[in-house]
Amino acid sequence: MAKKKGKVKYAGLVCSSCGERSYVTTRNTQNSPTLIEINKYCPRERKHTLHKETKKNLGRNEAPKR
Ligand SMILES: [Zn+2]
Repeated sequence: MAKKKGKVKYAGLVCSSCGERSYVTTRNTQNSPTLIEINKYCPRERKHTLHKETKKNLGRNEAPKR
């Protein structure tokens, strides 16, 4: 098997109302080319809000292989 790499990227999820980055997840840029938008719990506001993907991601961008 050929070695595959570079398709899974880290994606920080930022709260759209207060700007808190509450979550970090991964996204396969080939299978899902659009940015993530998802309703998640915001610990700062203590309620569910819309979270959007940001480019900022803890200083590295390639998710480790599992
Ligand atoms: Zn918030």
